[in-house]
Amino acid sequence: LRNATTSTLFQSPAALRRLLSALAILEQREGKLNTGSLSAVTAAQKLGGSVHGFVAGSSIKSVADEAAKVEGLEKVIVVDSAAYDKGLPENYAPLLVENIKKGGYTHVVAGNTAFGKNVLPRVAALLDSQQISDITAIEDDKTFVRPIYAGNAIATVESSDAVKVITVRGTAFPAAAIGGGSAAVEDGVDPKVESQTEWVSEDLATSDRPDLATAGKVVSGGRGLKSKEEFDKIMNPLADSLGAAVGASRAAVDSGYADNSLQVGQTGKVVAPQLYLAVGISGAIQHLAGMKDSKVIAAINKDADAPIFQVADVGLVGDLFEKVPELTEKLKA
Ligand code: FAD
Repeated sequence: LRNATTSTLFQSPAALRRLLSALAILEQREGKLNTGSLSAVTAAQKLGGSVHGFVAGSSIKSVADEAAKVEGLEKVIVVDSAAYDKGLPENYAPLLVENIKKGGYTHVVAGNTAFGKNVLPRVAALLDSQQISDITAIEDDKTFVRPIYAGNAIATVESSDAVKVITVRGTAFPAAAIGGGSAAVEDGVDPKVESQTEWVSEDLATSDRPDLATAGKVVSGGRGLKSKEEFDKIMNPLADSLGAAVGASRAAVDSGYADNSLQVGQTGKVVAPQLYLAVGISGAIQHLAGMKDSKVIAAINKDADAPIFQVADVGLVGDLFEKVPELTEKLKA
């Protein structure tokens, strides 16, 4: 495989397609395809070879049918088993490895999501590959671009591994469209690995607001909000007046003002909405790593020297407890 990959430069496009084949891992939750994971399909298409999708879980037929309509997929590999519903890495990784080996894939691509970050390192270890994480661009089938040091440097890395195991940054690859595709659906292999890990329960923060990772507008609150009560009182009406998702800095999360799932930044979610409004957030480098690619950045902070103003397109210096309710009222009107 290694020889095949290195010689691809001298192959015709048709021969290249035969040599390169990518498996894009699709996520599902409660029988619904997670469209955010379709970034993996877009990235896999850029490799130039054939692209198959992979999805597993119980009563998977409706997810598989939806996945078959995803543009750019030639085939959808499906494993119907409740054992894979929650994406536990202990059994999901061996499941993927069996299917990767069976399909002879040269590339495995997943989103750099909680699921991708959980499962793919195990897949890479089992395949004896060096994982390439959180890529933002593909130069060719073995050369990838990824931010390092919280986005302060951009590394271009080349892999000589037989199977390249890759996670992609969702904001760098738009999700593949659903509708135009007509992929064949095929049963994958189920190794039925005995796992010592059992799914017990989950406690999810639910919200009617848009999903933070894919929202077009995000309003984020920081330590300046002072308490959970104030955070909810100030940020929720602001979000609703804009139809925005709510985000938070790590200081706000660590102080218990906001749920951990709302954290934006190096160790939280990476977002790139049309509008990002930072309220009472200083703009630490680790926070900027999660939002600096937003199209328009606005900030409200009482400190005119706060670093957030260095990246903001629009800034308002003032007390957030005064300015935000005023802004919310004006937006509602
Ligand atoms: P602060 O830095 O305390 O800023 C609060 C701001 O609110 C100040 O600028 C202040 O002027 C303003 N303010 C206060 N009161 C008011 C008021 N009444 N009106 C208007 N403005 C007001 N951080 C993240 O956010 N996300 C991450 O993913 C992340 N990952 C990290 C990973 C590592 C390894 C490390 C070391 C740190 C990480 N951090 C992360 C933490 C980061 O360094 C900062 O500590 C954090 O972002 C600060 O959050 P903040 O801006 O809310 O708080």
